[in-house]
Amino acid sequence: MKFELPELPYAYDFLEPVIDEKTMEIHHSKHHATYVNNLNAALEKYPEIDFKCPGQLMRNINDIPADIKQAVINNGGGHVNHSLFWKSLTSPDTSKFEGDIKEKIDSDLGGYDKFVELFTAAATTRFGSGWAWLVINKDGKLEVVSTLNQDSPLMENKRPLLGLDVWEHAYYLNYQNRRPDYIKEFFRIINWDVVNDRLEHAKNCECSR
Ligand code: MN
Repeated sequence: MKFELPELPYAYDFLEPVIDEKTMEIHHSKHHATYVNNLNAALEKYPEIDFKCPGQLMRNINDIPADIKQAVINNGGGHVNHSLFWKSLTSPDTSKFEGDIKEKIDSDLGGYDKFVELFTAAATTRFGSGWAWLVINKDGKLEVVSTLNQDSPLMENKRPLLGLDVWEHAYYLNYQNRRPDYIKEFFRIINWDVVNDRLEHAKNCECSR
């Protein structure tokens, strides 16, 4: 099977001014598209590898043949991480932090302010390129973690609920070297409805949400 670049669920300017239109256009139509193309190219040699979604591919990364494993980590991870990222975002200051995720952040992480502190630290201190994540670990508890490059939390049996891309390509046009400013603004565009939905369906296939 071939993986395809998913359409964005909104226009390129929808996240303005937090993430500018040009950054979104390049990020989605060039960067994400390249991960999808490279993933398909890596898998071409092994037509018997047939996962129904990229998330399933990442959870079973240790079954991937050694000669393409790193390419699948980089590009399969790139595909699944970005797909999840786009859907987690909404227009600035329109989503309310409420519902089951609020209760779980209170109980597992010590409240919203603590979550912001942990997530900011994870995103800021990730050296070079990578991601910050809110995940459910295998014990069903929330954790804030970061990953290098395009590594997916799914490879460690963690279910991502929310991720932030901290590669320079995600923010450089607008924020240049000011990654901390980009991270601070990110909290305005989190779509908590989507995060709640992922929490509710955390045991199902992560690629449908
Ligand atoms: Mn990216």
